[in-house]
Amino acid sequence: MPERRGLKHLRYDVCIIGAGADGLAAAAHLAAHGLTVMVVDGAAATGGRCVTAEFAPGFFASPFADELPAIPPEIFFGLDLARRGAILAPCERLSSFADPLRMAVIARVLADASCNPHKPGVFARTPAEEPYPGEAWASRARAEIESTVAPEALCDPELGGSALTLLQGAPGGLVAGGLGALGQALARAASEAGAEISLGLEVTDIRQRRGRAVAVGLSDGRECEARAILSTLDLKRTFLSLFAWNELPKPLVERIGTFRPAPGIARLLVALSAVPQKPDVAQLRRPIVLAADPERAYHAWKSGVVSERPPVTIRLVSAVDPSLAPDGAAVATVTLGGIPHRPFDGPWTHDKRSKLETLALALLEEALPGTASSVTASELIVPPDIENRLGLTDGDLMGGELSAAQMLGFRPFVQCRGTRTPVVGLYLAGPSSTLGPLATCASGWAAATAILCDLKGQP
Ligand SMILES: Cc1cc2nc3c(=O)[nH]c(=O)nc-3n(C[C@H](O)[C@H](O)[C@H](O)COP(=O)(O)OP(=O)(O)OC[C@H]3O[C@@H](n4cnc5c(N)ncnc54)[C@H](O)[C@@H]3O)c2cc1C
Repeated sequence: MPERRGLKHLRYDVCIIGAGADGLAAAAHLAAHGLTVMVVDGAAATGGRCVTAEFAPGFFASPFADELPAIPPEIFFGLDLARRGAILAPCERLSSFADPLRMAVIARVLADASCNPHKPGVFARTPAEEPYPGEAWASRARAEIESTVAPEALCDPELGGSALTLLQGAPGGLVAGGLGALGQALARAASEAGAEISLGLEVTDIRQRRGRAVAVGLSDGRECEARAILSTLDLKRTFLSLFAWNELPKPLVERIGTFRPAPGIARLLVALSAVPQKPDVAQLRRPIVLAADPERAYHAWKSGVVSERPPVTIRLVSAVDPSLAPDGAAVATVTLGGIPHRPFDGPWTHDKRSKLETLALALLEEALPGTASSVTASELIVPPDIENRLGLTDGDLMGGELSAAQMLGFRPFVQCRGTRTPVVGLYLAGPSSTLGPLATCASGWAAATAILCDLKGQP
């Protein structure tokens, strides 16, 4: 294993909180440029959400997501991730959506939102007198975006610029062996570049001296000093749990308090004793999206209830990657959107979990007829499980709603460039940061570039 369990020293150039995709990509980039780097993670293994679990004997799946937003090629090839074991499984759902088009849409939606915050998103209602950039273009763009976006990513439909949620990063495809192979490849890249990785040790707080972040407190009582600290935790977790609030400027605390969460997801990992025969083989390799009313699901989530018909994506992941199931068997995942972290009538109980599991299995049967009789085991993951296992506020994998006031330069601090934060010496990567939604590893890479620039004067 490339990672170590203890800290060799208590002073580094950079301390990175979280050994997920962003933290490991940043570590590899910084260490390759000669900085001493320590990555600290409370979990027992590297990868964060990039893990593969054996949820039933012989059946494997990635618990939190089947695929993440794509990794920019310069990072994928720069870190030699394929040689290190991250091989993309042949997948029929790769984005054909050209980046310039995506960027043009983002610019347009932002312009809409800044003119009138109550105006519906560009795709919610395109004004007939102002076709932009033309009906044909718009419908093509809409079709392309919808085909590359998980329908379970919901946001407030009343909010100006709500169409932005359709512009999250295009999917990166399935990794052979599950997302754990990607997490391990990134850990190898970081270790081989010289970064140290410490597991089973949580960061309890970030310490400031003279208004600058200079050290992190560790769960074993020690302190690790660093010239720069990079948090890959979400915005609220970073500032509201790792600082004493009265040590932070009031406007910063207010901004964090108004940062809107994104609706949660639940996942059901299902072991099947037989491979479904319907629909046909080509279709089984693609995600199956069942029609739902996203507006209703959003409002249900706001009220703390599960919609009767939540947005759902079903994947027979073993049809793309047979290594995930024993011969003749299969693994399916059911991803449900708009799932509350805390239902209106109290925490998730055994009864509520089993009702949600029944709903998910019914949706699986609808998408893949005949599967109900071949289910041999399953594991349900609801938002509190995600919070417990990854340390994400409310189990929100998105790190905050993707809306105009929380996107691009607004995500999360309009006054700071890129991944810098109002606390000098502290940088933020991960899903709450500017590049979080657009691509996997990109925010970690961008934070590393900012740190190199600030510590070494390198562009
Ligand atoms: C709109 C949008 C859509 C997205 N779509 C998806 C999606 O569909 N699925 C998905 O999974 N992601 C999605 N992402 C997230 C995106 O992929 C992330 O930017 C990135 O992949 C997550 O990697 P990470 O390294 O930042 O965090 P993680 O993988 O979450 O890793 C964080 C690590 O920090 C550790 N940790 C937590 N607390 C502490 C502590 N106190 N001390 C030490 N360690 C700690 C955890 O153990 C964990 O290993 C989306 C993001 C956005 C904004």
